[in-house]
Amino acid sequence: RLPVTAAAGPGYLPDSEFYKVEAILRPWRVPHVSSGLLEMGIRGLTVSDVRGVGAQGGSTERHGGSEFSEDKFIAKVKMEIVVCKEQVEAVIDKIIEKARTGEIGDGKIFLIPVSDVVRIRTGERGKEAERMTGGMSDRLSSSVVPIS
Ligand code: ATP
Ligand code: GLN
Repeated sequence: RLPVTAAAGPGYLPDSEFYKVEAILRPWRVPHVSSGLLEMGIRGLTVSDVRGVGAQGGSTERHGGSEFSEDKFIAKVKMEIVVCKEQVEAVIDKIIEKARTGEIGDGKIFLIPVSDVVRIRTGERGKEAERMTGGMSDRLSSSVVPIS
């Protein structure tokens, strides 16, 4: 049986304060994934409709008409989540937990170092720009809100 947890390497190369977790997901799993992330205080994320090909190849999707594709590209959703280094593994584990069916076509996660974050409204940079009010860091520092 596969371990349903991310097998992290020994530290991160290249090292970075922030990372973008980029996940290619089955469209019908996306609400499940995003609500799971929200529950743990991950409030900022971006999704795009994309199409791709992988081991699933041109095989038609078993789990619903919305993923059916007549050409070799299958409809997927790309979810991009920028988080600080300390949150990367929790985010990856949550995505696996919520997105996985065990069938070919569950998707992939790419981890990309991010050199800076800028909040346009305030001009904040780095940690200040990445942190979100009521986000995971806030929840971890207050014992009032339970963390799922
Ligand atoms: P503000 O406090 O000025 O509202 P904010 O940090 O909450 O800033 P928004 O302006 O609400 O950011 O975010 C705009 C868009 O940026 C979001 O709809 C989302 O697509 C994207 N986004 C924000 N934060 C992240 C993040 N950490 N990872 C990925 N996408 C993000
Ligand atoms: N790391 C941020 C925080 O804890 C949350 C980032 C995010 O929601 N993508 O506030």
